[in-house]
Amino acid sequence: MTLLKAVRGTRDLLPPETELWNRVEATARRVFTRYNFGEIRTPIFEDTQLFARSVGEETDIVSKEMYTWEDRARAQSEKSQSLTLRPENTAGVVRAYIERKLGEAGLLRKLFYIGPQFRRERPQKGRYRQFWQIGAEVIGPPSAGSESPLRDAEVLEMLASFLDELGITGWTLVLNSVGSSTDRPRYIAALREALKDKAPQMCADCQRRAETNPLRVLDCKVPEDQPIIEALPRIADHLDEDSKAHFAAVLAALDACGVPYTINPRLVRGLDYYTRTTFEFTHGGLGAQNALLGGGRYDGLSEMLGGPRAPGIGFALGLDRLILTLQASQSDAAPNLADAFIAPLGEAMNAPALTLARELRREGLRIELGDGAFRLKKSFEIGNKLARSIILLGEDEHRSGILTVKNFAAGEQVRVPRADVARHLRP
Ligand code: AMP
Repeated sequence: MTLLKAVRGTRDLLPPETELWNRVEATARRVFTRYNFGEIRTPIFEDTQLFARSVGEETDIVSKEMYTWEDRARAQSEKSQSLTLRPENTAGVVRAYIERKLGEAGLLRKLFYIGPQFRRERPQKGRYRQFWQIGAEVIGPPSAGSESPLRDAEVLEMLASFLDELGITGWTLVLNSVGSSTDRPRYIAALREALKDKAPQMCADCQRRAETNPLRVLDCKVPEDQPIIEALPRIADHLDEDSKAHFAAVLAALDACGVPYTINPRLVRGLDYYTRTTFEFTHGGLGAQNALLGGGRYDGLSEMLGGPRAPGIGFALGLDRLILTLQASQSDAAPNLADAFIAPLGEAMNAPALTLARELRREGLRIELGDGAFRLKKSFEIGNKLARSIILLGEDEHRSGILTVKNFAAGEQVRVPRADVARHLRP
């Protein structure tokens, strides 16, 4: 029989790595809560139209990377429907904002999410078909201040604080403005015009993008195309006064609070819904897939989905890549040992050992429980691999209430009254 394996581009996350994942997620929850964000959990699959309308039909994500299937009707009352595993989470959040009327209170909604996303990309280091994102969105009616450049700067400052708190050094914040929903189409028209002559000299992808999604030409990494791209019109020269003032205010607020950044006039990002501020945080240690996170403003997205006017800004951070970055800087991390391994001496001691384990676990200690069928030598061998100390529980210890505890590193064996064991074990 052929052995079944995890599907290409997916993988199992195992301990102790999952402890690192949990630590990062806990840090995100703690930091985002300080900024008064609350958690949202949207469905893993949505109507395919949601992504087609928001992310955009011509993007790589929608045109070739989505996991889509036709969900057949099971009853006469149901219709068959095209469904898609979410490739990103902003569309789902904005769908929920509209459907659940989250703007009705007239306040900003500040929501974060943590969860898996799915894209059929070519797998490589830092790029998977099921990957995890931590993201956040600030969205609301304009009267709540959702269009203010202060929102952009606050989100960027929160991200800088989050990475700092995780101990990630060496990140770079790269910023650009892709213009508003009025000046962006003007720029795209200028780009299209300039590409008429140039595209035939460019790579096959660029030739296609020049037709379907000219902004994506700026993303091209093919070396031969770079001089042509450098000479293309720049979005900065096509911004209207409002967009220019917005971008300048974002930069001024970042300068004021000391968050460093660089401006890249070619940063356009792959999703159609972005307007004005777009950004990425990159990290040199990641190699080719160097974007730790990306995001931007999406002032027209709610309306694209049939909702009320609700400007917003958000980001999505690649958790898989963040973990790779942390692992690279913590390669010598000590193994995560239990506080003690309890060795019952004989099977009659199994039940008393479970009672002792229960007491110590309720004290908050991490306890591994052996088995009375093991010989003493085997208990020591296993205990040494899993825990910092071993507790021997034989008839004598059970009757007298004085336990034998050995710390493996110190090599010393001591007798400790049962009531003092938790204190004795605590690191
Ligand atoms: P995007 O939704 O494309 O803006 O991506 C936001 C972030 O998610 C990126 O900066 C990456 O860190 C991460 N990401 C996107 N696609 C993948 C993938 N296939 N595998 C791992 N991480 C990804």
